[in-house]
Amino acid sequence: MASALWHGFADMGAVEKNGAFVVSRGEGAYIWDREGTRYLDATAGLWFTNVGHGRTEIADAVAAQLSKIAHFSNFGDFVPETTQVLAERLAAIAPVAGSKIFFTSGGSDSVDTAAKLARRYWHEVGQPEKTIIVGRQKAYHGMHVAGTALAGIPVNREGYGELMADAATVGWDDAKSLLELIEKIGANKIAAFFAEPIIGAGGVYLPPEGYLAEVRDICREHDILFVVDEVVTGFGRIGGEWFASTRFDLQPDMMTTAKGLTSGYVPMGAVFIAPRVAEPFYAGSWWRHGYTYGGHAGAAAAAMANLDILERENLLAESKRLEASLHTHLQPLAEHPRVAEVRSGLGAVAAVQLADPAEALPFVKTLREQGISGRAAGQGAMQISPTFVMTDDQVAEMAAGILAALG
Ligand code: PLP
Repeated sequence: MASALWHGFADMGAVEKNGAFVVSRGEGAYIWDREGTRYLDATAGLWFTNVGHGRTEIADAVAAQLSKIAHFSNFGDFVPETTQVLAERLAAIAPVAGSKIFFTSGGSDSVDTAAKLARRYWHEVGQPEKTIIVGRQKAYHGMHVAGTALAGIPVNREGYGELMADAATVGWDDAKSLLELIEKIGANKIAAFFAEPIIGAGGVYLPPEGYLAEVRDICREHDILFVVDEVVTGFGRIGGEWFASTRFDLQPDMMTTAKGLTSGYVPMGAVFIAPRVAEPFYAGSWWRHGYTYGGHAGAAAAAMANLDILERENLLAESKRLEASLHTHLQPLAEHPRVAEVRSGLGAVAAVQLADPAEALPFVKTLREQGISGRAAGQGAMQISPTFVMTDDQVAEMAAGILAALG
């Protein structure tokens, strides 16, 4: 049946032909389609349902907020009361003491906010020639203009002409390639380096041992802002800690977040800005940037309720449990001839890398027949990023389903 809906990241000809997978409801680690069939959710939607589906506590908090005031403005001196309280709560768990919180409507907003602020910062401190922003191969930083220009997944950049002149790419796993780029073009031209602690949409690639600390130190030594994109890893997904930046002591100049901030119940993002970067804008200068729905009061209420659940149910520890559980249950799949490797062992994320990337999309359908909702990322990797309430038994059920689908 022809539909009016144009899906994101989709071969719409195929969707028209085969129909959409219509999701009607969710509870815990499960979702149900329109026909009432239940599926184990291997991906927590798009990596975001950290507290699990069907949390009426979050819905109630949002409803109460919307009845009071849905939103107003966060421009100038305006701010909704709940948004102000949320900012203090986030600052208290920020990896860098004294961080400021700039709210956005999602991850792509957060990335473009950080990219603009990086350049504007250097302009403010008298080094306007520092404009180049460096990203990594395989990186995904959302789909706004700066994020697309920084993407290390070439197909995501193709066909638009030059999106942002001052963008450069280095190897994803090799700190030396960052150093080489700095030597080639000069630190005095480079505004910032962006890195996901774990490459997410690019296929779930864990950082090589020591890599994150190495690039942090290179940025420090060369006075390049270090921007850590924690849209996926933030709010517990890294396992045992709020952020990869805290787990690995990354001391980011800026940290971009979204997804797990509200567990996706309502769209919201936030950029954590270290005092050094914020300082010029609190001392005379001001920044002409903001989003109508940045710090939306309903989203702030969802975030507060989400953080309450994460804390009360000790879900950061559950995410750490999943780190081990995914590793134990998924690694044996690496023996299967259709599997090239399994990447796991850091955070509540993993990837089952198919030997033939062309099999990825048909495999997602075969998985559904096994009662598992999965998704392909990167070049033929099955993305695994469950909600933190997935039990070890459910992880075993997921691994068995993947094995059955492999045949
Ligand atoms: N940055 C990273 C690391 C992401 O994984 C994503 C989304 O998957 C984004 C940014 C963009 O977030 P959004 O889709 O909310 O705009």
